[in-house]
Amino acid sequence: MCGIVGYIGKQKASAIILEGLKRLEYRGYDSAGVATQNGGRFEVAKKTGRVDGLIKGTSVLKLAGTTGIGHTRWATHGGVTDANAHPHISSDQKIALIHNGVIENYASIKKFLEPKGYTFLSETDTEVLCNLIAYHYQKEPVPAEGSRFVEAVRKSLRHVEGTYGIAVMCGDCPAEIVAARKGSPLILGVGDGEYMLASDVSAIISRTQNVVYLKDGELVHITAKNFSISTLDSEDVSPVIDKVTWSIADSELN
Ligand code: GLU
Repeated sequence: MCGIVGYIGKQKASAIILEGLKRLEYRGYDSAGVATQNGGRFEVAKKTGRVDGLIKGTSVLKLAGTTGIGHTRWATHGGVTDANAHPHISSDQKIALIHNGVIENYASIKKFLEPKGYTFLSETDTEVLCNLIAYHYQKEPVPAEGSRFVEAVRKSLRHVEGTYGIAVMCGDCPAEIVAARKGSPLILGVGDGEYMLASDVSAIISRTQNVVYLKDGELVHITAKNFSISTLDSEDVSPVIDKVTWSIADSELN
């Protein structure tokens, strides 16, 4: 279980996400990657090895877009390869996903998806969940209110056994991220005109001290202007914004 960083704001997402991923390096990892949303298209850079290797060996700093997600992976399903690194993109190119944890029933979900035309480029449990969200997104009716994207994530997670901290982007939703957790930490940072997501406060403390600690079974929908939290059972949750009292200097000393 490793690192998650997400960003929605006015700055270039990739540089901010890389800074966050570097602050999570102390946890150990075997691969790193970033995806941004750029006008309905995902731009992705991912690679085995260190974050510095990702910066030197790929075009990660050139990824355009002000919404993005990044990951440091500790492989559980599939070897340490570039293809298995996160983010994963669904085979219909609609959904991008990063994931910490283990999807225990990934094999049966994969069996369900394969006859429906979904294909897989990696050996990971994560790519299976990514395609399950794409499947529900494509099937989900356009709601009169609420979000088809959020409902697709919610429906998919109801079928998942295992643990997850996830951050998801949708090609049709330019400045939006949906994130959720079960058995894997996830924090929303509420900044000045921007939002961040992280698996650990140290990844975002340099940009904001206002954080919401998401609970197991909760899902957050973040847009450029606001955020809302709900449960897998579709109940609304009133967010509690905490103030982190330690600083980046304390984090570095630690
Ligand atoms: N199970 C996923 C994989 O092997 C996520 C591993 C992690 O938590 O970093 O790709």
